[in-house]
Amino acid sequence: MVEFNRQSETAAPWAWNDLQRNEPLETRPLEMFLHDEPPAPAPTPTPHQAGFALVLPRSLRAQMIEHAGRWVTHEQAGIRLGRAYQDPRGFQFTVLAAALPVEDAEASIAQVKMRAAAWPAIWKGLQQNPGQQIIGWYHSHPGYGIFLSATDRTTQNAYFAAPWQVAVVVDPVRGEFGVFAGCDPDPVPDAAIFSVA
Ligand SMILES: [Zn+2]
Repeated sequence: MVEFNRQSETAAPWAWNDLQRNEPLETRPLEMFLHDEPPAPAPTPTPHQAGFALVLPRSLRAQMIEHAGRWVTHEQAGIRLGRAYQDPRGFQFTVLAAALPVEDAEASIAQVKMRAAAWPAIWKGLQQNPGQQIIGWYHSHPGYGIFLSATDRTTQNAYFAAPWQVAVVVDPVRGEFGVFAGCDPDPVPDAAIFSVA
């Protein structure tokens, strides 16, 4: 379970909506991001039924599991940065990039709380990654599998409701991860996840 706290506990000027950069998406064909995939020709994009595809650098796939695996007795959580685009064929896609671990997340075996006190660090992370936006969040389920709990769904709906915003769930014990997209999120199938170098 991950609970975000929208209310700032201090008088910090950070508001969640200010951290999000939800301006209209740039239009780019998905294939533009698949070119570094030799020697096979670029696959035909197959956005899933909700009209969404994910571009996932291989290094990040490994890193997600490795990071979560360092603390298998505690849930890990953080913000995912990246960039979302509109494909001319009408679907949206997200290119996953850096992770911003929420360092002061209050972690226990079954619960992570991201407090508003973490927002300044997220703001700093955004400034250190120019051109990136908050494309979602991630957290771990050490040993209990890939799904979104009712609380996880509430979090997604409240904070990451754009169709191109994702929830990444990692199970470091089983070595599995899953991606869920949009408001009322459903799993993004493998066919709509494009690995790139
Ligand atoms: Zn969860």
